[in-house]
Amino acid sequence: MTKPVQMLVVAPHPDDAEFGVAGTVARWTREGKDEVYVVCTNGDKGTSDVNMKPEELAKIREQEQLAAAKVLGVREVVFLRHPDQSLEDTPEFRKEIVRLIRKYRPETVVSADPYRKYMWHRDHRITGQVVLDAIFPYARDYHAYPDLIQEGLLPHKVREVLLWGTEDPNYRSDITNTFDIKLTALLCHKSQVGGFAPALEERLRERAKMMSKGEGYELAESFHRVEIFY
Ligand SMILES: [Zn+2]
Repeated sequence: MTKPVQMLVVAPHPDDAEFGVAGTVARWTREGKDEVYVVCTNGDKGTSDVNMKPEELAKIREQEQLAAAKVLGVREVVFLRHPDQSLEDTPEFRKEIVRLIRKYRPETVVSADPYRKYMWHRDHRITGQVVLDAIFPYARDYHAYPDLIQEGLLPHKVREVLLWGTEDPNYRSDITNTFDIKLTALLCHKSQVGGFAPALEERLRERAKMMSKGEGYELAESFHRVEIFY
């Protein structure tokens, strides 16, 4: 039986989790909690380099994601390897997420807010929506998937959802002491962010400062938080 995890992070692409929640992940790791990453697509379209082969990029991005997870102390990374820009709200994708929720039995699930208006990567919208549906009611209900029960994957109740990229933040997480680790993890995604650039650090720091507004600390990640009462 798999050891339950405190936080399950479901990211549409390699690098999304680093932008969205890496500072919080690093802090939780320091506090002795553990996390598992699920990366839904292989990110094989994430380049403007016309000479880069998609299958090559997918391999590079997997390595980058593993390196970033190592920096943060993430216990395990699960790659679903769907093609980039291909996610749809299907029974199959939902079941994949339910399976992982039941396997890792997290207290908290973190993903992209699907309800961001207008321009938002379709994979982000779909992932967030499917994650919310997978948590409730599908992961909770015994009769939802008789075959998963056969496999020993029993119902599980997630207690909290944190959604990044939100236009409706109601929860801030202090990353003042882990901002540098977030930056280091993000820099592992060389194919996406290039090498170290002061401009990137500056931009990230400014955003983290804005997100902490009104709190007694300097830097934050912000989320829309949903507490679930069953
Ligand atoms: Zn993304």
